[in-house]
Amino acid sequence: MPLTSKEVKDAARGFGADVVGIGSVNRWNSAPAERDPRMIMPRAKSVICVGFRVHRGDWRGVEEGTYYAGYTLTGFADINNHAAPMLQRRLASFIEDRGFETAAVLHDGAWLGQESGRAAKRPNGADKPKPDVFLNVRISAALCGVGEIGLSRVVLTPEFGPAQRLYLLVTEAELEPDPIITGICDGCGECIRRCPARALAREKSDDVIVPGVAEIRRAGLDVTKCSLAHCGALSPFAPEDVREYTLDIIGGTETHTASGAPRPTREEIAANVTDKIPYARNMREYFQSPPGLCAGEGCQRACLAHLEACGKLTRRFAHPFREK
Ligand code: SF4
Ligand code: SF4
Repeated sequence: MPLTSKEVKDAARGFGADVVGIGSVNRWNSAPAERDPRMIMPRAKSVICVGFRVHRGDWRGVEEGTYYAGYTLTGFADINNHAAPMLQRRLASFIEDRGFETAAVLHDGAWLGQESGRAAKRPNGADKPKPDVFLNVRISAALCGVGEIGLSRVVLTPEFGPAQRLYLLVTEAELEPDPIITGICDGCGECIRRCPARALAREKSDDVIVPGVAEIRRAGLDVTKCSLAHCGALSPFAPEDVREYTLDIIGGTETHTASGAPRPTREEIAANVTDKIPYARNMREYFQSPPGLCAGEGCQRACLAHLEACGKLTRRFAHPFREK
């Protein structure tokens, strides 16, 4: 039974998606085996990206420095754990009812890692991935034409800028692809300037060139510094000793802290920081989610303010997100 892209998109929006885009699987021809949708489903023809907006109000309390739980719960964990799996399930059922096998790929945080896996039995040939094969959600979203990856490394859509969460499905259905989106990120650098962890570096660019499809220009990311901001080490909930320890790492390099000591490993940092911030620990326990206590101060919120001020987004509000 034929199935069109319009039918799939109408169904996705009917099930609650705020954004939806489709990419032909040949756009992943240059992906490593561990990121290739055909390693999950050998007869895959298309990848579908669906997304839910993050309400601007979910960030308001963090902007004010007064209310942090709302973003982690309703702008992050609830979408990851409830809204998205339900939408993916309903959309997969809709497509499978038309006769095309369809698999949901979960959000980035659900990737459990592949280091310990033994190489897969299939496909035949040299390039056998280790499980767990898992698509790069942001790059895949760009290849599905839902938005452009900005200098911030975040997907920017024409409707919501950086304010959505994105999820993927892989299907045997051959669907008309969407065009690749460009021209949203203007390179203003607000994401880098406003990152509280100094985790983004324009001079350490980390570009992804997909031959004949897309050129993704990204700033380099120090994941360790970013994770420190996310877990609340710079938030008002961090005790003073954690804050000092964190600033020493953030002021340093990838090998040394600002005071000249060798930089601790992520495991050592986690042991030193995580349980000393009860608010973050409570978030993990109550919301079943990593805490999102940075709430993208630079890479999402500053970018949103900038793109809105430039009139680039189709979602409009009566008042600006950030006053000058
Ligand atoms: S703030 Fe947004 S628009 Fe500006 S450089 Fe960063 S990603 Fe691009
Ligand atoms: S989440 Fe926060 S710390 Fe990480 S890159 Fe974005 S602004 Fe920087």
